[in-house]
Amino acid sequence: MSVVSVRYSSSRTLAVSLLAAFVAVGCAGSGSNASAPGSDASSPASSAATSGQNAGKAGTPNASAPDAGARRSTAELRAEQTPGFVRMQFDVLRLTALYDGRVDIDAKQLKNASANSIAQLLRQGKQPAKGAVQTSVNAFLLDDGKGNIVLVDTGSADTMGENAGHLHKALAASGYRAEDVTAILLTHLHPDHAGGLLKDGALAFPNAQVYAAKQEADFWLSESIAQAAPEANRVYFAGAVKAVTPYQASGRFHTFTSGKLPIEGFDAVALHGHTPGHTGFMVSSGSEKLLLWGDVVHSHTTQFANPAISLEFDNDLRMARAARIKVLRESARNGQWIAGAHMPFPGVGRVVTQGTGYRWVPLDFAQAMSAAEKRQP
Ligand SMILES: [Zn+2]
Ligand SMILES: [Zn+2]
Repeated sequence: MSVVSVRYSSSRTLAVSLLAAFVAVGCAGSGSNASAPGSDASSPASSAATSGQNAGKAGTPNASAPDAGARRSTAELRAEQTPGFVRMQFDVLRLTALYDGRVDIDAKQLKNASANSIAQLLRQGKQPAKGAVQTSVNAFLLDDGKGNIVLVDTGSADTMGENAGHLHKALAASGYRAEDVTAILLTHLHPDHAGGLLKDGALAFPNAQVYAAKQEADFWLSESIAQAAPEANRVYFAGAVKAVTPYQASGRFHTFTSGKLPIEGFDAVALHGHTPGHTGFMVSSGSEKLLLWGDVVHSHTTQFANPAISLEFDNDLRMARAARIKVLRESARNGQWIAGAHMPFPGVGRVVTQGTGYRWVPLDFAQAMSAAEKRQP
């Protein structure tokens, strides 16, 4: 997966930065040097990369060429992805989508529809119909410019394997420090959302107040419920306790019930089912509305077309299905923006109806930029 990261200080410069990023990516496709993004097609870096590609030996520099030392193969250039972040202006709020990484779900874990119909949807979406289906892990930072820097979910840290846990790199690349975060809203306490509360066992966000739904805390932090759970599931309880305890100890962990939150413009929307206190956050910013919906959808390929499809990890399959159907219907009707923890990065888009189900319409950069530009004084 190719991830484009951009940095900008205002929406006007965003347009320029995105254009530069686009050019860089376009040229990377033909193997040019990222530090000189195709500005001079006759430059040594550019022509060398092209000849390397033509030789059909990605990763094998052409040692017989006169300037071989200056040449780098496409494979070498792409060995490491850029930490992923993408920004968008929502009226007065600035949203930064942060890429934590990816996890695999097994097609067999998709439930509530026949295996044949699920396989067919996966094939139509060009996903493997059997075995591992990749899903993105995203978190989102909202900055109101008035001192509130709010992180929604924290990524997975070291809890989900080597392909995830990159949130802090993405955050640093975006120009924010962990110390800048004033509040953390947790959609729920699964490890890919709350695991990043800790870094090397200590508070990863030392100045943040942390908020989660009361039903969520009552469930995952309960010793008696953990004891009664199947042994294989106890690791999730232990993980939640471990992530939250240092914040509790310093008086920084708070619970809420749905409705207004103590951060201006943020409301908690109960989406219980995936977990007992699974919650979305509706953010109002001027004329814009954005719903950060957590784990409403894990498999965009199947669950928009058939919202009845649930994931095995949904604690209560029926409740999760009801919550998904309701929020998809309302989102398509209202047309607000969505930011999804497991939607393809950057995970921002909108929902429209299609046939008997729905379709995901991802963020269009050009549209987002021109909307932001119009708001400039
Ligand atoms: Zn979850
Ligand atoms: Zn999740």
